[in-house]
Amino acid sequence: MRLYEAPPLPPFSEEKCTNELDRILKSSPKVAILLKGIQTLNKDALRRGITCRPCMGTNQETRMGYYDARYKRVVLCCDHLRSKKEIEDTLVHELTHAFDSLRKGKFKSICHLIACGEIRASALGQCETIEDPYKKKQCIWTDAVRSTEIHCGTEQAEKVVKEVFENCVHDETPFK
Ligand SMILES: [Zn+2]
Repeated sequence: MRLYEAPPLPPFSEEKCTNELDRILKSSPKVAILLKGIQTLNKDALRRGITCRPCMGTNQETRMGYYDARYKRVVLCCDHLRSKKEIEDTLVHELTHAFDSLRKGKFKSICHLIACGEIRASALGQCETIEDPYKKKQCIWTDAVRSTEIHCGTEQAEKVVKEVFENCVHDETPFK
């Protein structure tokens, strides 16, 4: 016998991603709260808006999305997104980065700042709906280390994520 395996979902086209994004922008309470928070701090932070586009072949091709502070926009990598939930989770993650880029905070180093932002973005974004507390912590921890090590190296990333974890994971601004 041969076990049936459902094929993985195909990635979204730019058009399908944009249509889902429109729906999420109109209906997601989390996205609305983040956008309002960003607007309150600085109306310019998302001057170029939120767009879906393919990232393969660019220097962002390992990502599902990113906030571009220089160009003031969020990009969703449609060729790495396969469901409405992935789009919404990624959008919440990147909007958290946009929001954090406008906040003032004191950190020991740039790596501490990056680690804290990644912990928050993962806790509020793609890891938020995991119910099991242990698995949820694993999700946040792993994703934060992976994103921080790009800038700070693995050893330093593990160390600073550990140092800031408790404080940052409980910081749910602008939700609470
Ligand atoms: Zn991130």
